[in-house]
Amino acid sequence: MKRVSVLGATGSVGCSTLDLVGRDPDAYRVVALTGGANVALLAEQARRHRAEIAVTAHEAALPELRDRLAGTGIATAAGAEALCDAARRPADWIMSAIVGAAGLPPGLAALEQGTTLALANKESLVAAGPLLMDTARRHGATILPVDSEHSAIFQALVGEDLGAVERIVITASGGAFRDWPLDRLAAATPQEAANHPNWDMGQRITIDSASLFNKALELIETKEFFGVAPRQVEALVHPESLVHALVGFRDGALMAHVGPHDMRHAIGYALNWPERRALPVERLDLAAIGQLTFRTPDEDRYPALRLARRVMEQGGLSGAVFNAAKEAALDAFIAGRIGFLDMARVVETVLDAMARDIDAHRPEKAVIALDTVRQADHLARERAGAAMAALP
Ligand code: NAD
Ligand code: MG
Repeated sequence: MKRVSVLGATGSVGCSTLDLVGRDPDAYRVVALTGGANVALLAEQARRHRAEIAVTAHEAALPELRDRLAGTGIATAAGAEALCDAARRPADWIMSAIVGAAGLPPGLAALEQGTTLALANKESLVAAGPLLMDTARRHGATILPVDSEHSAIFQALVGEDLGAVERIVITASGGAFRDWPLDRLAAATPQEAANHPNWDMGQRITIDSASLFNKALELIETKEFFGVAPRQVEALVHPESLVHALVGFRDGALMAHVGPHDMRHAIGYALNWPERRALPVERLDLAAIGQLTFRTPDEDRYPALRLARRVMEQGGLSGAVFNAAKEAALDAFIAGRIGFLDMARVVETVLDAMARDIDAHRPEKAVIALDTVRQADHLARERAGAAMAALP
């Protein structure tokens, strides 16, 4: 029996993970499930999968979680430290599917037990890639990518020599606004941005898909996870979202990963790795699909991509600053306090304002301690607040 824990169980990736686990109850034992404010769902999941413990990030929600699980023998806990404790519970496979930089400390705690971490939480690689990879190495842990593009790259590299890779191309659907004229974007609302043409995902990543901040995070994620140079990583707009990534080798071959837009493929690949088992995803009928199209992303339309290049070149703390400023700007956009195009402006202003802090932590490959990453994250959110207050 494989012991599994799911951090961020109540989210889109978490629910898809439990869907797969629940299809084969004899193969898995569920250890810890964590969630946020939605304790009704968390308690229901914990009962259904007979988890050892259910943990909510919100201390105020603990009494309700306790009530809902009374008499079940399922332990309950709350708060940031309890999330890390949950990640420390012995498990063979842990899904990291919390959204945002909040996923970093539990992800590190999981790696410290030398287990397999299925990583959907791309923000932790962006904010602290070298720290995460180094923690895995030191503790003999394995990180498996779950982001669909990175799972695709990982699969295209099976049996290949990383030294023979010339370039890695990740695709982008273009998000909700891909066909909007540029002059309409300034007035785009959160509701409009949260409407993805192809994928069904959490609200935050869906809005990040419309601004291409999600693709920006993924470019950085590619560099950090696969250890390639910034110039070897590129994004390509592919409205059908069926080719997830391509790996180009030095002999000119391009290995593409093609599959339906269903996260259960990438999650299931990581769950079954190194085996391939049957998964309940659609089988593509390419003749019916007919054609796949690609185009170069327009950096005037998507400044997030330009900022990602800057972060990949700078390394060090720039990823933590970039991610935190983006999270703060996204919060403000969702709350209706700033416009859609202001998000990239705010992130750029914060990267400029913190250039000295970032520079102090070069060279880029150095492992930066969690406390330093957290301080940079905190400062970047403060600076983002100031930048937003100064917007016209
Ligand atoms: P979601 O918003 O649907 O769910 C997020 C989960 O994290 C929930 O369980 C929520 O309760 C929990 N959470 C939120 N804030 C928290 C905090 N401060 N502390 C602890 N827990 C908190 O998000 P999602 O779409 O499932 O995405 C999860 C992660 O996976 C993100 O990093 C995202 O970028 C990545 N990802 C998602 C998809 C997708 O299809 N949804 C695809 C690729 C990568
Ligand atoms: Mg992705």
